[in-house]
Amino acid sequence: MEKKAFINIDYTYDFVADAGALTCGEPGQEIEEKVVQLTREFIDIGDFVVFAIDVHDEGDTYHPETKLFPPHNIRGTSGRDLFGGLQTLYEEKKERENVYYMDKTRYSAFAGTDLEIKLRERGITELHLVGVCTDICVLHTAVDAYNKGFKIVVYKDAVASFNQKGHEWALGHFEQSLGALVK
Ligand code: ZN
Repeated sequence: MEKKAFINIDYTYDFVADAGALTCGEPGQEIEEKVVQLTREFIDIGDFVVFAIDVHDEGDTYHPETKLFPPHNIRGTSGRDLFGGLQTLYEEKKERENVYYMDKTRYSAFAGTDLEIKLRERGITELHLVGVCTDICVLHTAVDAYNKGFKIVVYKDAVASFNQKGHEWALGHFEQSLGALVK
């Protein structure tokens, strides 16, 4: 049987709340219950659960996103808190040895992080993805996972985007081009 990890991508206040700095809005809020439920299940079963959370430093002129998006997920701000029930769940479970909170600075959870080494040392071969945005950070993480030879599962009711067309395109791409199971 494949050894699994569950990767929670960018489900933060800034990306989900109405007043978030770069929000998916309603589609992001609609998946809250499912994101929390799945995360709880994977933590309780003992699988490796990763919170891969975007971080930026204020006024970072070198970061490519500075030209593309308004400031968001700034280090040390509440905009970077996990959204709603996910923050509560994280507070409750964060001391578990199978829970790993990780900063990331690019769309992909693999870019410039120790995610791959953490997965390889645990013998993990299958990644289960949830979070936002389906067609940006979830997509880029899935593409890297594919190139590194991981099997991929994406939960269509636990990913969302501000761009419905992009969301739907990405779901198709996961399945048809990355060989993912979209369920
Ligand atoms: Zn960002």
